[in-house]
Amino acid sequence: MEYAALVGVYKHLEGTQSTLEKRDVLARTFADSDAEQLPIVVTLVQGHLFPAWQAEDLGVSSSLTKRAIAKATGIEEEAIDDRWRETGDLGDAAAWASENETQQTLITTDLTVEDVYTTLRELASYEGGGSQGRRIDAIARLLSDSTPTEARYLTRTALGHLRIGVGEGLVRDGIALAFLDGDEDVEAVERAFQVTNDYPLVARTAREEGMAGLSELGIELFRPVRVMLAEKAEGLEDGIESIAEEPGDVLLESKYDGVRIQLHKEGEEVRVFTRKLEDVTEAFPDIVRAVRENVDAETCVIDGEAIGYDRETKTPVTFQRFSQRIKRRYDIEDLVERIPALVYCFDALALKGESLLDRSLETRIDALERVLDAEPGAIERAENERVTEEESAREFYEGALEAGHEGVMLKNLGARYQPGRRVGYMMKAKPTMETLDLLITRAQYSEGRRSDFLGRLFLACRDDCEAETDADGSEDDRTGRENDEQRFSEVGRLATGYTDEQLRELTDRLEALLAGREGQVFDVEPAIVLEIEYEAIQPSSEYDSGYALRFPRFLRVREDLAPADSDTLSRVEELYDQQ
Ligand code: AMP
Repeated sequence: MEYAALVGVYKHLEGTQSTLEKRDVLARTFADSDAEQLPIVVTLVQGHLFPAWQAEDLGVSSSLTKRAIAKATGIEEEAIDDRWRETGDLGDAAAWASENETQQTLITTDLTVEDVYTTLRELASYEGGGSQGRRIDAIARLLSDSTPTEARYLTRTALGHLRIGVGEGLVRDGIALAFLDGDEDVEAVERAFQVTNDYPLVARTAREEGMAGLSELGIELFRPVRVMLAEKAEGLEDGIESIAEEPGDVLLESKYDGVRIQLHKEGEEVRVFTRKLEDVTEAFPDIVRAVRENVDAETCVIDGEAIGYDRETKTPVTFQRFSQRIKRRYDIEDLVERIPALVYCFDALALKGESLLDRSLETRIDALERVLDAEPGAIERAENERVTEEESAREFYEGALEAGHEGVMLKNLGARYQPGRRVGYMMKAKPTMETLDLLITRAQYSEGRRSDFLGRLFLACRDDCEAETDADGSEDDRTGRENDEQRFSEVGRLATGYTDEQLRELTDRLEALLAGREGQVFDVEPAIVLEIEYEAIQPSSEYDSGYALRFPRFLRVREDLAPADSDTLSRVEELYDQQ
């Protein structure tokens, strides 16, 4: 398939706001691809060459791409830079450079999707001295065979920001329409995806084996499943009542303030995945060791929360301190010494080759407790208590807060594991006046001393208010996914709470996410989630949500959260009502 044909599809998708039209375009494109092309096309429309859980990195930065554009077109880097600053999109700058190139290539061949896919994926395997030069050469070669429009999308793909408004929900709907009975089978595609996190595989299975094949797709070692999420309870007693018919069916567990992790083990091989499904094994050698030595199962998948632990005082360290460990790529051993991890295990999703997803929580916990040999301070079972009466539940809750935990989790012991869902089988109870996890959607440079920093940040929540009801009036309970078609509504502007160091780091990251500008204000691709505290929520006509946070303050970057995990407009409304 020619790359030009796929680029035609990109343009169509980018040019329409209609979700139905996007879905139809995707379905047609999938249906028209042959068996070999289908996984490639499904990958390329998502704009990521590898799934999040494969620890592969193309190693492509904006400056490297700029050099490749200059090499392919003969246009000076400064001129490309100017163009980039004007529009905030290096893809546009590439298209412009390609149109104005001073260096005509004599023989150009038509690019194919296979060529783009293979060349870009190969970039991840380049290592050692000279690898940056090889990356520049490879991208430059693709760019010199590109038309200006192809150059735009190729550049965006290499940088990992395709921006055509296609998220997971649309790919799911496109697959259901292309190979199954459309809307009726969306649920099955969704489930297959939540378990495999691999749309190319889901698409191929839907096409070749239909519904039967999809239902067979299950959990596999070293391919993480979406974690089950929790709903918020309006207080402990309410939560217990709404989660199960009998209070005795409810298990309380301490809610630890750390990082959700999924552990996969086969013999001596252990891998650690985050809630965003990133493979962070290299950053956590201490967790790998603890699992190897204390989990007595040839193969298993365990769900848990990791916190930082001070071995001297035997108390947890703050989340902020521990979160340094998530993305750490150098001096890891030193950091492990200073901030060792402690894993609290609370679920087993597979054991000894058998999937436990459809078994009750009680069975899964039995399995977990059978294989886990706790090592205090390194790997433990989450503290828990079965609810017998209200009074003792309250005591457990107060005890958890006193121990410095965030609150408690309430779990229905009869429930199966629902990947990616927030369905009321698991709830959290914590004290009310809450912080909000919000996305940065726009940014502006500060004035005065901090004028080099993007210090004025517009904050947004997920706008779930329209999405909750489908066109036919039925409730849509499929929350918790990350998709580009997700809408965000702004709730305020942040200017304080960060140190210079934090702001410098944020600015560096934001500058790579700029996606356009209006006057002094830059659009930012919504990717960074901040935890924000504030004094109150007020009604306001200034922001499209209809609310404004009074005195918002930066608390921390939530490295562990994806845009789809940020708080919703309904949540903001709820908190407003509770004031
Ligand atoms: P929240 O992030 O506020 O939606 O709360 C849910 C998160 O609490 C989960 O995703 C876990 O990361 C975390 N958590 C802490 N302790 C537990 C526990 N005992 N069981 C389940 N989740 C827990």
